Amino acid sequence: MLIVSSIPVTNEELWKAVLGEMELSLSRANFITWFKNTSVLSRDNNAVMVSVPNGFIKEWLENKFNKKILESIRNQVPEIREVRYTIGRLKVELAKHDFSNIILAKELESRSGGEIDMGTDIDKTTNLNKRYNFESFIVGSNNELANAACLAVTKNLGKLYNPLFIYGGVGLGKTHLLQAMGNKVSDENNSKNVLYISAERFTASILEALINRTIEDLKSKYSQLDLLMIDDIQFIAGKEKTQDIIFSTFNELHGRNKQIVLSSDRPPKAIPALEERLRSRFEGGMIADIGTPDFETRLAILKQKSHEKTYNFDEEILVYIATHIQKNVRELEGALNRIGAFSQIYNRVPDVKEAKNILNTYLSNPYRKPSPQSILKSVAEFYNISSADLVKRSRKKEIVKPRQVAMFLLREETKLSFPEIGQKLGGRDHSTVIHACEKIKSESSVDEPLKQELVLIKERVYNSFDK
Ligand code: ADP
Ligand code: MG
Repeated sequence: MLIVSSIPVTNEELWKAVLGEMELSLSRANFITWFKNTSVLSRDNNAVMVSVPNGFIKEWLENKFNKKILESIRNQVPEIREVRYTIGRLKVELAKHDFSNIILAKELESRSGGEIDMGTDIDKTTNLNKRYNFESFIVGSNNELANAACLAVTKNLGKLYNPLFIYGGVGLGKTHLLQAMGNKVSDENNSKNVLYISAERFTASILEALINRTIEDLKSKYSQLDLLMIDDIQFIAGKEKTQDIIFSTFNELHGRNKQIVLSSDRPPKAIPALEERLRSRFEGGMIADIGTPDFETRLAILKQKSHEKTYNFDEEILVYIATHIQKNVRELEGALNRIGAFSQIYNRVPDVKEAKNILNTYLSNPYRKPSPQSILKSVAEFYNISSADLVKRSRKKEIVKPRQVAMFLLREETKLSFPEIGQKLGGRDHSTVIHACEKIKSESSVDEPLKQELVLIKERVYNSFDK
């Protein structure tokens, strides 16, 4: 049904038409679960912004229904190219019939993690993508221990280190390693039940089970696993209901020598609002970290990725990338792909000079300068508070420190003046800002954990560009 009309459709009419179409293709219960309290918030010439009640619904609409929604929108307004989803205020109706859902819905609403694009070749039962294996993982001094621990665990499932806890900054290969473990275990013995799941999805599946009253089924499903890997476990900070279920699943599996592997962007003791009982469980096995790769490792990774993608670039180009991008493997790949895009468009391999030009524009892209908002957002996410908390008048310790860190990073990473920073943070005096900046600066020179935190937050800030 293609209606091309010259009469402009209002947002309300547009969404009503979409709902009408969706309703036809879904069961009543499903339709209500996914589309209740949704609306079109705004739109411009090529994109529509849809408001949804929580992160759980957002995820489902994005992953499962986006194509249909877009199709149905384009039946009304053919110019639209994209639908985006944003979390509006939590509607109580969703949670009314079961109190625990309120907690979970709130837990889900609080933030969304930095999941990697796993591509389309994912096994539905295990969530594994064959692309990530040990053979394609380059080992350097930065990840030697983690790599060895992961390999050892696959050979002694449940017996050697349980749990295995891998931590390291964004884009350094945690997900790759977890996936590689899963692939190895299920390749070598396909009777083993393996599951890879991001902590965010884990939380979402708990909410879904609570809504559908299938939580016992879910628990029993998890308890049948031989290997459970939960990625980005820091996401469960402050999420009590999720921690409860992780705790019981953990005990159940651990008690029967079933293997648990966890990853995080920081060590267990640096995860805020993590229940003590869980923290001590996480620390009870082996903890291995991944650091930033040195030059040789970066170059070897670039060669490996070029090989995978059958790129054939001059070594000098790879050296140039490895010299200029140091902190994040995903960015290394990003730069390589830029050059790859060039050779596809022009149907030839760029020479070194051209490649440098492409990379220089990539590296000096003004959009790569962080906005104050992105800094505030990253700080808030990192400390598991809301951006609004940073601006408020609160003097609580859990807020004061993040606020001071935000001031410090705004000063370091943007060109804002002290008074401007004060303005951004709820109209505080410039002397307060100066004090905060000096304090964080001097503390971070002696306080190693604080120094680490600053690195991790900056990684977040600079990583959000590529998303
Ligand atoms: P993290 O989960 O730590 O954020 P990922 O596992 O998603 O990081 O890694 C980001 C990208 O970098 C992936 O495409 C991954 O394959 C690649 N990568 C990271 N470390 C290595 C490595 N040592 N060898 C090969 N590829 C790597
Ligand atoms: Mg990851």
